[in-house]
Amino acid sequence: MAYVINDDCISCGACVSGCPVDAISEGASHMEIAEDQCIECGACASVCPVGAPNPQ
Ligand code: SF4
Ligand code: SF4
Repeated sequence: MAYVINDDCISCGACVSGCPVDAISEGASHMEIAEDQCIECGACASVCPVGAPNPQ
């Protein structure tokens, strides 16, 4: 289980510094979460202006 960033992401970068395990990085078309690192804290979802990160 991990959070996943969907296509609504506008790559604003707000979630990157807030991730406690540095699991978020720039992907091919938008930010992506390394699912093997995500601890499901929800911090990225809290700061995201478009609601792109969601638990899967
Ligand atoms: Fe990082 Fe937490 Fe978002 Fe997972 S849920 S990517 S650990 S901020
Ligand atoms: Fe994308 Fe939301 Fe992260 Fe901004 S805060 S980079 S819109 S997932």
